Amino acid sequence: MAQAKYSTHLGMVDILPDEVRKWQFLENLIREEAAKFNFEEIRTPIMEQTELIVRGLGQLTDIVSKEIFSFSRGEDNYVLRPELTAPVVRAFVEHHLDQRGGSQKLYYIGPMFRAERPQKGRQRQFHQFGVEVIGSSDAVADVEVIAFMIHIYNKLGIKNTTLKLNSIGDPESRETYKEALKAHLKPNFMKLSDLSKKRFEKNPLRILDSKEEEDKPFIENAPVITDYLNDESINHYNKVKEYLTDLGISFEEDPYLVRGMDYYTQTAFELISPDLGAQDALAGGGRYDLLVEEIGGQRTPAVGFAAGMERLLIACDELDIQLGNEKSVDVYIVTLGDAARKWGLSQLPNLRAKGVSATMDYMGRSMKAQMKDANRENARYAIIVGENELNEGKFTFRDMKESDEKSLPFEEILGLF
Ligand code: AMP
Repeated sequence: MAQAKYSTHLGMVDILPDEVRKWQFLENLIREEAAKFNFEEIRTPIMEQTELIVRGLGQLTDIVSKEIFSFSRGEDNYVLRPELTAPVVRAFVEHHLDQRGGSQKLYYIGPMFRAERPQKGRQRQFHQFGVEVIGSSDAVADVEVIAFMIHIYNKLGIKNTTLKLNSIGDPESRETYKEALKAHLKPNFMKLSDLSKKRFEKNPLRILDSKEEEDKPFIENAPVITDYLNDESINHYNKVKEYLTDLGISFEEDPYLVRGMDYYTQTAFELISPDLGAQDALAGGGRYDLLVEEIGGQRTPAVGFAAGMERLLIACDELDIQLGNEKSVDVYIVTLGDAARKWGLSQLPNLRAKGVSATMDYMGRSMKAQMKDANRENARYAIIVGENELNEGKFTFRDMKESDEKSLPFEEILGLF
């Protein structure tokens, strides 16, 4: 085969029809289950203002400092959205969604963009589904969000997962902790990675999330944030743990778990799978009680998660979980001659109107080749039409599975569906 002249960009993949069937199955499942939780779908543009993402996620995060795809046009700066929490919060503020009353329970499914080094489970255009509950500070919201996330994996049969849980406290607790962390790191400041040195003053918590080897020894014995939580933060964290336990959702506390964005407060969590290899995070999320205000709204508590769809598909593959059905069509009309072809074309709408999927040959092939094609398309039935059939008004109706044929008027064939 000749080498194609054009290809997708690095880390961006085409999802071809056989794969798309799996995606549709997943998307339908997510939509059905979200409806059971009374979450409503929200859709926002693929591009956002750069300022929103920088401000929302934080200047020193990996995403903002290294991974955003951005460009300008005229006066405007655009970024391909790297995640959806900040855009959903922007939409919440822009459209005054608080005026709908109660807490907004939103979910989304869609592509995100990060210029990371591609590898298995890590792409530059990837897809997430996620939930954002905006307007509740109650631990019930945290736990419903976590329960929905886990529910999707369980529903698919992915049960061998670990929920990692932490609290990174409110701003007051975090200030005290930051000082303790800095005091711990300071004697070894010169040995830290360049990125961690940069983060030291402005955002030392991010150092805990460092992937650099040279930072590891200093992270391993750092003080833990849970020792610095104030009463309010401890109460919230305890309630989250209590409600999770009530629901039978097991978790592992990880006091060094900080998430990749600066907007998190209080609860932070990640869902890990041993079936994924190096990129083992299926999903992650937490509370972000300050983000709405940061973006220009009134202070409004919120909690959410985002899950990687590609990693979910990899996990299904590893566990031999079948998603969706094989390609198939209900009826294939096989025709011989022009008049039959015209008849076939005009009957397709009648079949489709009955809810039956129907197709015919588009390539003027022989009857034999059409029968072969009907098999390749996994047709359940074939209607075979030639000049004789047209004259008699009776058509061969073939059950492709049972290899059984009947000669019937078209009305009767339609009546079988
Ligand atoms: P994050 O928005 O970074 O918290 O990521 C949430 C989830 O999205 C992760 O747990 C992954 O499953 C998925 N994810 C994040 N980045 C990528 C990527 N570059 N490629 C594929 N999946 C990703």
